[in-house]
Amino acid sequence: MKKINRTKDLLNPDKHGYYGDFGGAYVPEMLYPNVEELKDNYLKLTSTKKFKKAFDALLKDYAGRPTPLYFAKNLSEQYNTNIYLKREDLCHTGAHKINNTIGQVLLAEALGKKRIIAETGAGQHGVATATVCALKGLECIVYMGEKDIERQAPNVARMKMLGATVIPATSGSKTLKDATNEAIRDWINNPSDTYYIIGSVVGPHPYPDMVARFQSVISKEMKKQLKKVTGDENPTHIVACVGGGSNAAGAFYHFINEKKVKLLAVEAAGCGIGSGRSAATTQLGTTGILHGSKSLLMQTTDGQVVEPHSISAGLDYPGIGPLHAQLYTSRRAEFLSATDEEALQAAFNLARKEGIIPALESAHALAILNKTEFKKDDIVVVCLSGRGDKDLAAYMDHL
Ligand SMILES: *Cc1c(COP(=O)(O)O)cnc(C)c1O
Repeated sequence: MKKINRTKDLLNPDKHGYYGDFGGAYVPEMLYPNVEELKDNYLKLTSTKKFKKAFDALLKDYAGRPTPLYFAKNLSEQYNTNIYLKREDLCHTGAHKINNTIGQVLLAEALGKKRIIAETGAGQHGVATATVCALKGLECIVYMGEKDIERQAPNVARMKMLGATVIPATSGSKTLKDATNEAIRDWINNPSDTYYIIGSVVGPHPYPDMVARFQSVISKEMKKQLKKVTGDENPTHIVACVGGGSNAAGAFYHFINEKKVKLLAVEAAGCGIGSGRSAATTQLGTTGILHGSKSLLMQTTDGQVVEPHSISAGLDYPGIGPLHAQLYTSRRAEFLSATDEEALQAAFNLARKEGIIPALESAHALAILNKTEFKKDDIVVVCLSGRGDKDLAAYMDHL
């Protein structure tokens, strides 16, 4: 059944959701109708004039788009090149995640769903989901690992204030993957009235493609903004961190077919690639199935998921989305990594040099500026995926 021509077009996975060998929809039979409903409708519903108008209006006036493309003069001098920061940290709720939740909540509305479920690790996706549900008057249930609930108390409080119900996942390691299992269980039990919002370019088809499209507004804006400031809509490099891969997918999207633009994806090396405490999926992973799609993931030889580690909760994930697995194996993107320590240093450096406190996730992208050679004329855009308020406690521990 496998088609030989598993698409080389990275902007359009084939109809089964494959980018090369990666993707697909590996779901329990009971979820099949839900996933099919979504698959059959997402492109149609999101391409109507009405949808686009509502999506664009909320991105603009609610999320605060377009986000600035900021020329970081001091950082540029430090690295003797030209560095621009795409300021997703200035989005409402503090990260790029809101772009996706606005899109999916509008889609849920168009499908007539009244009940929204989501899973969250650090709580950023949970907060973004609870925010848009409050706006739209939709019931919102967020599954979160018991351990993460303890670690991320401020985001739990935000979700509750926004009217969401936060349900602890108490099985396994009591973290993100267990929360995901609980969310899937809920969806199986409530197939008709419930919409499941996944927070990254992971999960069964059509989620990876759908989330990439919603986040692609990032690179769409970059092109326009670069054209204005440099005269060329293409930079030489784009740098983004990769947890599941949604901010990177959004930042790369409209440049994927511009072969001259170097795409640099940065994974979390944790305590070091060989330390046994890492989350650098392309370096440590092999092909397997995680959360409904075939991709690269960190697993033991008998297929048990290896517990990842990163100082940044948003990158603490044992897999990457199928688009990124294909970007990696086809070498369209270069995959680098930064350790916990390197990310911390990069965060302090940005704070002191530019007066911007980045999220720990985004600090991983900044960290590779130290380890990569750039020319004086290069135009390097770093996706600053989120702000660092949520990470202040971690920063203070290392001050
Ligand atoms: C969640 C998060 C990430 C990681 O998720 P991706 O899907 O890889 O983008 C990165 N940065 C911030 C600020 C986040 O909140």
